[in-house]
Amino acid sequence: MKHELGTILQDSGIRVDWRDQSDVAVSDSFPNLVVVKFRGKCRMDPVPYLYDERGPLAFTYSTDGAVLPFSEIACDKVRSSLRTAMWGGDYKRSDMLFGRALARVLAHELYHVLAKTQSHAGHGIAEGSLSGAQLISERLQLNAAELNRMHDAVQSPGNR
Ligand SMILES: [Zn+2]
Repeated sequence: MKHELGTILQDSGIRVDWRDQSDVAVSDSFPNLVVVKFRGKCRMDPVPYLYDERGPLAFTYSTDGAVLPFSEIACDKVRSSLRTAMWGGDYKRSDMLFGRALARVLAHELYHVLAKTQSHAGHGIAEGSLSGAQLISERLQLNAAELNRMHDAVQSPGNR
């Protein structure tokens, strides 16, 4: 997941410094903080069950139209979405595919948070809804327009 997210953001000038919540002290402060909660079971089972749960894969909190830096990823939903797209040899590399998918879902939410927008893009990671096939496809990116929006919002002073 970290590797894939690094690849997605490599041209954005945004560097993600990962911290586990348990490693953060009350006195710590960060210039741009995004809190992401991973809910449910965030690992793949080796057995190819077929699920058919629907619903959002993740969401970011907002209030009065303003996007807040708090996101939640529904691991169970991401996992079942993947299962609809996996076949054959995919099951042998399900852990890698799940990490890739989580990174893309995370990048989608980071786009909302960092660019401070609820809008979506026509294609790529910032699309309104991502299919299981898109989440595990060889390549899926944030477009230059979205990367620039994120970059500019993070760089500009007084952006919060
Ligand atoms: Zn979205």
